[in-house]
Amino acid sequence: MHKIGPDLYAYISDNDASANSTFLVGDQGILVVDTGLNAEEGRKLLAEIRKVSQAPVRWIVNTHYHPDHRGGNSVVGPDSIIISSEFTRSHAERPAKENSVDETVGPNGLVLYLGEHEVRIYHPGPAHTQGDLVVYFPDEQTIATGDLFLTNSCPAMDDGDMENWIAALDQMLALPVEHVVPGHFELATKSELQRFRNYLADLRDQVARMYQQGMPLAQIQASLRLDAYKNFRQYPNYEATFKDNAAAYYQQLEKRKGPSR
Ligand SMILES: [Zn+2]
Repeated sequence: MHKIGPDLYAYISDNDASANSTFLVGDQGILVVDTGLNAEEGRKLLAEIRKVSQAPVRWIVNTHYHPDHRGGNSVVGPDSIIISSEFTRSHAERPAKENSVDETVGPNGLVLYLGEHEVRIYHPGPAHTQGDLVVYFPDEQTIATGDLFLTNSCPAMDDGDMENWIAALDQMLALPVEHVVPGHFELATKSELQRFRNYLADLRDQVARMYQQGMPLAQIQASLRLDAYKNFRQYPNYEATFKDNAAAYYQQLEKRKGPSR
């Protein structure tokens, strides 16, 4: 757990398969961004939260539908309001509860005020998935990125949008940001965020150029020049490698072009 501001904390999971969390402690309640893979990870997170506050967890933001970001919901905040995108809500089963309250974030975003702290939640459009949320804490100059950013790592790519993903990262980089809480791995700053953005942009440029030349995917994958990012973690089991990322973008280009290519 890292204390970022007077009431803001980043919880960096010790389990790479479970997402990081961010939480803001207000007098009336706590807001948590992402809750980990399952009940066990949720309990670990809640134990850390309880070291600093006994206030109820009243709001949970789920950055997207992947289970490693919301598996701990029912443990961390069984009575909380779940805030997500429309897409995430429709892709996440939640045990039906008479008193459950959900809220979705539309194109204009959502601003919450916890005491004197402002929380800006917005949906940057399709990126890692079709329905990602980003949470910005302007007073603490901190951004919780969900899986739009992983520290020094290749991301997994769901049915998202590479071009818009890069635009979303540029949007984050334009904000005053000192602390970046990634979806996974260690706490970061703008420089790691910039480097991750550059990785995606380099990959996009190389794949797009070779695609235009009519090269097949396997040849494109074999021709990638990404030595600048060779310290990035790659996970074949999560389809999170240079080659997997190239394949994901290649599929997006194919889809855009249609079957007539
Ligand atoms: Zn994810």
